[in-house]
Amino acid sequence: MSNTLGLYLHIPFCRSKCDYCDFYSVAHRGDRMDDYQKALLKHIAETAPLANKQTVNSVYIGGGTPTWYGEKRLRELLSAVKKRFNVSRDAEITLEANPDSADYKTLVRLRRAGVNRLSLGMQSSNDDELEAVGRPHKFYQVKEAVAAARKAKIKNLNLDLIYGLPGQTMDSWKQSVEDALALGPEHLSCYGLTVEEGTPLARHVAGGLVLPDDDELADRYLWTVARLAEAGYEQYEVSNFAKSGYQSRHNLKYWMGEPYVGLGAAAHSDFGGCRYSFVRDVEGYIRGVLQGERLLDDMDRIPRRERGSEYLMLRMRTTHGIEEWEYRREYYMNFDPIGARLAEYEQKGWAARSGRRWHFTPEGFLLSNRLIGELLELQEASTLANTLEKLRAGPPPRADG
Ligand code: SF4
Repeated sequence: MSNTLGLYLHIPFCRSKCDYCDFYSVAHRGDRMDDYQKALLKHIAETAPLANKQTVNSVYIGGGTPTWYGEKRLRELLSAVKKRFNVSRDAEITLEANPDSADYKTLVRLRRAGVNRLSLGMQSSNDDELEAVGRPHKFYQVKEAVAAARKAKIKNLNLDLIYGLPGQTMDSWKQSVEDALALGPEHLSCYGLTVEEGTPLARHVAGGLVLPDDDELADRYLWTVARLAEAGYEQYEVSNFAKSGYQSRHNLKYWMGEPYVGLGAAAHSDFGGCRYSFVRDVEGYIRGVLQGERLLDDMDRIPRRERGSEYLMLRMRTTHGIEEWEYRREYYMNFDPIGARLAEYEQKGWAARSGRRWHFTPEGFLLSNRLIGELLELQEASTLANTLEKLRAGPPPRADG
């Protein structure tokens, strides 16, 4: 088991809510930030002793909009994390930010406090597209924030982009990608817009808003993968691309099934053989930590040997992919039906082999939800067949038989 640990701090405050957003965050609740901070600091102090045998090599402050939470609070959190946890000297310390709250003064202070990676929510370089989904910034602010980050000597920068925004065309998407490339980020995340139930976007769609269709999205995705490869960004996950040496450690922990601890409202963890999450409510979280009320929202104890389905689901999102003997050795499962299906996908151009590893091609990533679903069905059928075989064989003979 890995002796390194990822730490995630969730800051669930935003200036305003974007129309598509399904992440847990609240707008206009600056009045609760001080109490939330007290709760987070207490939670950090209480959790750190449980992880005293592990080295934290990745800290991720996400949200929400951490920069909206205020630089002083963020520095206080980082200082508490460094004091309480064993944070390695080369830890990747990422801060998520929106372009309208990432100025030079803020960034330089946070860089001095340890932040060495900035993830900026750019989403598009087209102001009409940004406005159409309620983003609280314009493209000129992205350029200013990137210049501020570079001046503050932040050498690892990610830009998030969204394809499929209302009103976006193939040409305007290409322009956004080119504008992002011109800013010289080390890492790019390109996500397809998803319409999440209960969001204002879902209501707009129900009311007649037309979004780019699946074929258009597929064209944008495949063009993007090719364009970013040409620009020197290696795809390492369905939606993530990086220059050599700049893959996100935080992201990889999740996809590689490595342990991480999340603190904050709605934060998820995979730690000590358990997956768990905290209540999805700022008030509930504050009361849970400060007054001992219910804090856990969900908890599942999953022994490592029973994580074969996670292995398939998460690793097949990456270009690292899966490997037959890794699968057999770690999860005691039969790879044959999965290997046979992957060979069929290879014929169709959806999967490829590098050495003994299998991974999806960009065309396969486009269909990955369906294809991973099929692989999981095969896995389940093979597990069931195995159990039935054991039952038919009956109990082992008794020693005194
Ligand atoms: S800034 Fe990010 S977290 Fe906040 S509402 Fe917009 S998408 Fe959601």
